Amino acid sequence: MQEKWGQEALHSTARYRPGDILQIPTMKTELEALMRLQTIDGETATLRAAIAALPKRLAALETKLAAEKAAVEQAAKALKDEEALKRRQESDLKDQQQKIAKLRDQMSNVKTNEEYRAFQHEIEFAEAEIKKIEDGELEGMERAEQLAQQRKAAESELADAMKAIEIEKEDARAESAQQQKKLGDLTKRRAKERALVSEELLRTYDRVSTSSRATGIAYAQGQRCTGCQMGIRPQMWNQIRAGEVLTCESCGRLLYYDPAREPQPEPVVEKPKRGRKAPQAGVE
Ligand SMILES: [Zn+2]
Repeated sequence: MQEKWGQEALHSTARYRPGDILQIPTMKTELEALMRLQTIDGETATLRAAIAALPKRLAALETKLAAEKAAVEQAAKALKDEEALKRRQESDLKDQQQKIAKLRDQMSNVKTNEEYRAFQHEIEFAEAEIKKIEDGELEGMERAEQLAQQRKAAESELADAMKAIEIEKEDARAESAQQQKKLGDLTKRRAKERALVSEELLRTYDRVSTSSRATGIAYAQGQRCTGCQMGIRPQMWNQIRAGEVLTCESCGRLLYYDPAREPQPEPVVEKPKRGRKAPQAGVE
């Protein structure tokens, strides 16, 4: 697959262990490609997470919308019940009024005081019923007023939620299209970088980067692996600086050395940081 990656090199690195030399000559291009690949893989992972989060965001909005709809329906039903009650009260009121009129009519024909009192008693009773119904009507009116306000508020919230979800859906469509385009670009770039790297190195990179460590290559800087922050033994450190590709003995990541990134070119003991004990890098 790789012309510059000869069979000999493949065979010589087929059974490496952490710390073993993987390949010596002209590794820089491949390591640089791997560093870029790592950036691309990181961006891809972030993008995939964003792509997965989008439907969840919309689903949460749909749930909210459904709750707003239910609130409007509930308020409308309560109002309807209140109106039905009012109609019943009005009908009852009319019945009582008719009853009183009829009683008064009959009362004009009574002969005895006893009969008269009986009628009067019945009329008083009907009047008390009317009072009760009227009180109930007043209470009902207050309730209906409150319910109408509740319904209005619920309707307004529903309208807002519907507008919000419409905007959100439109945004999501645009965002999704953009995400898919970006994912396509990343996939292409990824393939391009991978084509620059030998299968051997890719195997190591893939194995470590798909593990919990999430990345497969790290800078070796200041005699330590920047992936896991562990120190590198002096001999390994010398080999790395001589251009050899080694894997970190602690985390298994490929170690990439770039003299330009090295603040101190000479392997000297790091100055102790204030308030912290100096880590014994590479000392065993
Ligand atoms: Zn490490």
